[in-house]
Order: sequence, then C-alpha cells, then structure tokens
Amino acid sequence: MPLSIIQYPHPTLRVRSKPIRRVDQELRDLVAQMLELMYQAEGVGLAANQVNVPLRLFVANPSGQPDEGEELVLINPELERPKGNETSQEGCLSLPGLYGQVKRPKSVRVSAYDLSGNPIERVVDGFLARVIQHENDHINGVLFFDRMSNESRRDLDERLAEMETVFRSKQNAGGISEDAQLIADLDSWYDKYC
Ligand code: ZN
Repeated sequence: MPLSIIQYPHPTLRVRSKPIRRVDQELRDLVAQMLELMYQAEGVGLAANQVNVPLRLFVANPSGQPDEGEELVLINPELERPKGNETSQEGCLSLPGLYGQVKRPKSVRVSAYDLSGNPIERVVDGFLARVIQHENDHINGVLFFDRMSNESRRDLDERLAEMETVFRSKQNAGGISEDAQLIADLDSWYDKYC
C-alpha cells in the first residue's frame, strides 16, 4: 500500500515509537518515500509515525526543497543539552492549516544514526534545531500544540474538535479501523525492526 500522511487524531500519532534494531532495503525504501511525501506536502520534516510506522526515525530538510539545503535521515535520535529559549510559529503535516507559537530551546545536541549505521553527533540551532525538536516530539507521541500555552492553544480548539469529528465519523462509517485495531496493526513493524 502506498504511504500516506496520517492526520490528527489518528492514534499512531500518540504512540511512543520503538528503537530500530536493524535496517534493510524495505526500510531504506520507506525513508525514500517519506522524503518524497515530505517534499510533496511542502513540509520540512516528517516522522515515521506520521506515515503510521511506529519506529524511532524521522527525515528533515529545513529548505523544504529536494535539491536544496540539507537532507537529514535520523535513526534512533537522542536530544541532549538544550540551551536557550525561543518562541516561533510551527505547523504540522498531520494538522493541516493549524499554526501556533511554540517555545523551545534554541540549540540542542543530537546523537543518532544514519541509514548506513554511521553515528551522527552534532549541535544544531536556529530553524534546524526547531525542526529536529518538533520531529523528535512526534516519535515520542507529542504534538506541537501540547507545548503551547493554554491561552494560545484555545485558538486551535475549534479546529482540533472539527478534525476529531471528521476522523471519528470516518471510523463510524468503517472507512478507518477503530483505534484499538489501528494500534494492534503496528505490531508487524515491531516484529520486523525492534
Ligand atoms: Zn509535525
């Protein structure tokens, strides 16, 4: 089945993803498809659980353009040593049309692996640091509005409620499985890669 980006409130967005123990051609193909989807959707980052794959992996390119900027594939990322603070606007491919001000550390240290198993260690700041923190939140089941102040989050409540209604009606009509089934379906990924 071709990959697609799942939208709020799909339950996989709330899953704490599991570490990847092995990389094979299927996973490399998945990463290539994730990059393609990210560029098509004019995004700057995409986490595996946004395509319904509950593994600790995300892709990013702060330029948003396939032939520009820096393309990153981070496997089993760990973020450490947060420094400073900055508030800026964020959006999310799983929450189309929603934007909000999110306060995050200005710089962080990232440790991860690339697809060939080479370690990546670097300190990132600015927009790249924000993208990496947003995507790392995804693989922990955290969405950007979770980090917004209660006051600014209230502006999103109506739209979030609408998205919930749309999703639940699709479930009731049988177009999308029930949450428990969607979560049970993730086991095949754990069996293969964890
Ligand atoms: Zn997002």
